Amino acid sequence: MKKVLSLILCVVILCGTLLTAPAADGSCSCGFSPIIYVGPLGCTSVVRDAGTENEQVLWKTDTKFLLANLKAVLPKIGKAILLRNSDLLAGAIVDYVYACFGDLALDADGNSKANVTTPDLNVPQGDRHSPDSDYYFDYDFRLDPYDDADRLHTFIAQVKSLTGHNSVKLKCSSMGGAVLSAYLDKYGHDGIDVIICRCCPLLGTAVAGEAFCGKIELNPTALARYGEDVVPFLEAGFADDLLEGSLYALVDVLKGAGILDAVCALGEKVIRDVGDTVFRDALIPIFGTLPGLWALVPDEYFDEAVSFMQVPSEGGLHDKIFAYRNAMAHIEENLKEAKRDGVNVCLICGYNVQRTPLVTLWRSTSDGTVDTKYASLGATCGNVKEPLDDAYINALQNKTYLSPDRMIDASTCALADCTWFVRDWLHCNGNAGIDELFHLVMTSGEVSVRSFERFPQFLEADDDADTVRPVTGAPNAFERLRISPSYLNLIRFLFSILKRVTA
Ligand SMILES: [Zn+2]
Repeated sequence: MKKVLSLILCVVILCGTLLTAPAADGSCSCGFSPIIYVGPLGCTSVVRDAGTENEQVLWKTDTKFLLANLKAVLPKIGKAILLRNSDLLAGAIVDYVYACFGDLALDADGNSKANVTTPDLNVPQGDRHSPDSDYYFDYDFRLDPYDDADRLHTFIAQVKSLTGHNSVKLKCSSMGGAVLSAYLDKYGHDGIDVIICRCCPLLGTAVAGEAFCGKIELNPTALARYGEDVVPFLEAGFADDLLEGSLYALVDVLKGAGILDAVCALGEKVIRDVGDTVFRDALIPIFGTLPGLWALVPDEYFDEAVSFMQVPSEGGLHDKIFAYRNAMAHIEENLKEAKRDGVNVCLICGYNVQRTPLVTLWRSTSDGTVDTKYASLGATCGNVKEPLDDAYINALQNKTYLSPDRMIDASTCALADCTWFVRDWLHCNGNAGIDELFHLVMTSGEVSVRSFERFPQFLEADDDADTVRPVTGAPNAFERLRISPSYLNLIRFLFSILKRVTA
């Protein structure tokens, strides 16, 4: 088989279509080891009864399925509202959540139902490898990350054999960082020469921690800011700018008119009335059984979450949920060790984006999903939209790692010299500027936040221009309008004046 492969490769080279130069033993001397992209949560579909006429995607599912299930419980919801009966309403919501997501639950051993599978998982194919192409590793987000790590181990071996390289580069997005953590903990870093973590919840995310402790809060300020921060990332083709600007204005008007407060108050009332039942009868028995989601719970929440989510005190599922704590506890040391052994490590995380407005910790600065302090392995951060305290900054001996906007101190990070921060960068949003940084990291030798003039430690994302710029000072609506004169930035500027006048 190897000989046949070599022969085919030779023919291809003779044809002049490939720049790589494999030696007679099948090894490649192109000097660029292949990239494996470890995808985020939801990188592949979870399907019920795949290949049958009843086939149904459960994650990420289609609107039709969600609406059909909603239609089935609507009479019950209508009756509950009519009778003002919160028990009936809670029952209807439980039925709905079960119909949509019930089959995602794992059994007492932490295994999936036999008829719920991931039929589209990638197998590495072809030998194409370059800074612009990668092998996509996807996985079932529900499972124990150590199980995904086992598959990644096989996947890496396949990619090495296909390309004739004895090392690979791992680029991990979001939950891919949990798979990486389990992988490094079990298999070490042999045969890896670059590790990139893009918005990875390496120490968890407060959203998972708080949700698994039942701490849900609808905060109107957080909701308004979330709306404002997410609006610029909408994809609506040519109408983008006008639509974004109008929605931004709408969010501010709704907040100003007290409508968001009313919506939140109503939401809070519903949560108070039905929350306990929905958690007990639907959320805990379904999502509490997914070790993949447990990997996102920060250490400081874990014990309380175990009690709240009623994790069984023994058995396969219990063991899988607890096992990942080792991966999380060791990730700092495992990455430091990799770096000491010459692996090029690059952590990059967003900050100053308002996070999902559903949890009590809505002030924690983040990329909208993952807290900056957890993705950066320990940065000290001001609250979202706020600088660090003056007292903290004045007491800092070394201000080399302080961001020019005074929002982040990276000196407390585990790997301060190879951790980048991008202001206003929404979780895992594509950005050509950041891709350029990745390109440099993958094609240079050992890199640090001082390696590239254009990419210092603190950057700000410009979604309109699809690039990043060095942070020079605090966010300023006028400056943003001057650099990128769009309708959205004009509205932002006008509202910033309005807020100052009415404050
Ligand atoms: Zn090569």
